[in-house]
Amino acid sequence: MSRFARRYQVLYFEEAVFDSACGLELELRHEAGGVRVLVPHLVPGQTAEEAEHVQRSLLDRYLARADVQPDLLWYYTPMSIAISDHLPARCIVYDCMDELSAFRGAPPEMLAREQRLLERADVVFTGGYSLYESKRRLHRNVYEFPSSVDLSHFSKAREKPTEPRDQQGIPHPRLGFYGVLDERLDAGLLAQLADLRPDWHLVLLGPVVKIDPACLPRRPNIHYLGGKDYQTLPAYLGGWDVALMPFALNESTRFISPTKTPEYLAGGRAVISTAIADVVRSYGDCDMVRIADSAASFAEAVSAELARGADRAALYARADAVLAGMSWDRTWSGMSEALARTARRNASDGVTALKAMPPAGHLAAMAGNRYDYLVVGAGFAGSVLAERLAAGLGKRVLVVDRRPHIAGNAYDHHDEAGILVHKYGPHIFHTNSQRVMGYLSRFTEWRHYEHRVLAHVDGKLVPMPINLTTLSRLFGREFTPEQAIEFLKARAEAIEPVQTSEDVVLSTVGRELYEKFFRGYTRKQWGLDPSQLDKAVAARVPTRASADDRYFTDEFQCMPLHGYTRMFERMLSHPDITVMTGTAYEEVQHACRYDHTIYCGPIDEFFGHCFGRLPYRSLRFQHATLDQACFQPVGVVNYPSEEVPYTRITEYKHLTGQEHEKTSVTYEYPSAEGEPYYPVPRPENDRLFRKYQALADDTPDVTFVGRLATYRYYNMDQVVAQALGVYERIAKGERGRDLPSVMDRPRAYAASRP
Ligand code: FAD
Ligand code: UDP
Repeated sequence: MSRFARRYQVLYFEEAVFDSACGLELELRHEAGGVRVLVPHLVPGQTAEEAEHVQRSLLDRYLARADVQPDLLWYYTPMSIAISDHLPARCIVYDCMDELSAFRGAPPEMLAREQRLLERADVVFTGGYSLYESKRRLHRNVYEFPSSVDLSHFSKAREKPTEPRDQQGIPHPRLGFYGVLDERLDAGLLAQLADLRPDWHLVLLGPVVKIDPACLPRRPNIHYLGGKDYQTLPAYLGGWDVALMPFALNESTRFISPTKTPEYLAGGRAVISTAIADVVRSYGDCDMVRIADSAASFAEAVSAELARGADRAALYARADAVLAGMSWDRTWSGMSEALARTARRNASDGVTALKAMPPAGHLAAMAGNRYDYLVVGAGFAGSVLAERLAAGLGKRVLVVDRRPHIAGNAYDHHDEAGILVHKYGPHIFHTNSQRVMGYLSRFTEWRHYEHRVLAHVDGKLVPMPINLTTLSRLFGREFTPEQAIEFLKARAEAIEPVQTSEDVVLSTVGRELYEKFFRGYTRKQWGLDPSQLDKAVAARVPTRASADDRYFTDEFQCMPLHGYTRMFERMLSHPDITVMTGTAYEEVQHACRYDHTIYCGPIDEFFGHCFGRLPYRSLRFQHATLDQACFQPVGVVNYPSEEVPYTRITEYKHLTGQEHEKTSVTYEYPSAEGEPYYPVPRPENDRLFRKYQALADDTPDVTFVGRLATYRYYNMDQVVAQALGVYERIAKGERGRDLPSVMDRPRAYAASRP
């Protein structure tokens, strides 16, 4: 788990406990190294159906609150499908360790759920060869991963550990077993063996589960010590002379592949086992594991082991020879490879695939990996380039982002209430570029949406940009377009040349409207007076002598139908793209090999702020979910007054069209500190940027792209256009160098979209 946590956030949803007393619903029992173990607490007396319903909603609420969207769902039991089959994931693993349906007391729905899980799963891992044979008939992508062993843990048994108190008084020879005591154990065999050799002592550790404890044989030389912690097992094992696996041969043991076999061997103990198929197959030929089928043959095998057990060094050497090559590291890399292969297969099938994964050992192991391009930043600039380079030129691309997600500022997700929200404030897509629209439409369908904004001015909500309705509501009379033009002309100030944001507004609408709509908002937003900002900033918001109350007039205005993040997932789901979120450029810069860097972070940061810091304006977002269906009449309401600390409130349901009994909103508080969101357009900043740009021009192995790296107040579509332009230059260079033919390999889903 902790290995996978380097790649994913791992939430381990443990079996529920029935306990209403502690007042907890979901307990975070353990958190370390990226693994969080969550234990649902249920009220005793609930039906199985109620318990599943509660767990499903606990899981949903947790994922929303923790802002986690699982890449991977990993199932140890098909029963969990009931609480999670609604969760989207790029890859579903069914890790089948046992034929659970054959166990005593297995829920009747187990088989049906396994069937559903097999239909959903992208890949199946089995804990042994028998299971592999059985499952591969049911799924097209099955791998065998027999149990491995934590050698360093269990080999402590060889170092004469201190004997646990409850084992101290038990005479030798001791024959030991640890594990769950249930229907898999051959109780009759134990009793016969104990009777046959009253001078030997059978030590059994483990909880009694599902069977009546009275069924277990009671003899003076059989010692039940109860369940023990994993940590203490080597201390017990170290005190045994021989280890036993007295399993009954029945339906419940047909497919088992006991993990304890290699653990006993790691502890330096020989093993006597009944003829479990996977034990015979995997260890039958080695002389450290003997197969016996009756009390008499067990006794014979134990005697033989006791006779040669005196030579510990020889015993350990034999055990090590059997274990050679068996390690969790090997299992890990085998599983990683299987997942990567599955991702490639999904991608070529047109399925939204798991992103190709970094190799085992994360950054350290990346030393051996070679990429054509390292892309820093998984926002629009980085993701468009990664997609083009991989799909258009067949390049191997590593994308890193220091945030824990893809999509940059456009990242959206479902909040705790299940409402789709934008983590970094409202992002409305609008463009006049057919090319940009066509390109993005390969990765998403769209919802038509025309953005409307109201401004809170003089206690009224009026349209912004200023239009005929705004003037009517503020001045209490109707305006024709001609009257509005005359009205504003009479108020406008003659300013020549128009240079600043103050100039642009004063020269269009005059001081009164400037102060009501622009001055306070701009001072809050930028921490600067409009007279200190380039005219381009306020010029983004026009004034209209018409009743058009749309914020944008672009030809294409829409929102990705399933959200921005989903669109980015599709863009990055290419077998030659590896994405590592939560990873900064500095971490990978020297950890792997690549020919060229595409850098989409702040340019001054790249050059160590050597000429001083470029100012970027930041925001603090306050997100809230309200217990009401609707909060405000439009998607965004602006608050230009300096009396109000925030600039605007966004209500997302207007943008996304989602229907929900609650609603989620975001308040934006501008700030000098925090993540860089806005380059600040003013002449002195531009001069400073140009110094960095000169350095960039002298750094031919790095290409700077995007809003932060080219220090431009770009909208999303402009960044896409910029990235496509950069790609074309790269592609042209490649063609010029007469490299292998340029491959443009659109994914299968591309063809099905407009
Ligand atoms: P980003 O999205 O900022 O992506 C850059 C990425 O690089 C980030 O994820 C960052 O974590 C990563 N990064 C930086 N440095 C490093 C490093 N050293 N190592 C690893 N990763 C690093 N545009 C519109 O068209 N319409 C809108 O309605 C709109 N609304 C907006 C609202 C707000 C509040 C903001 C802030 C922006 C808005 N934009 C809007 C602009 C839009 O967000 C940007 O144009 C677009 O996201 C820029 O994409 P990008 O890839 O250049 O940068
Ligand atoms: N602006 C303003 N009042 C408003 C809306 C915008 O003064 O009600 C100014 C402000 O300086 C803002 C700029 O116009 O930063 C550009 O506004 P836009 O809505 O384009 O900002 P963005 O969406 O990029 O935050």
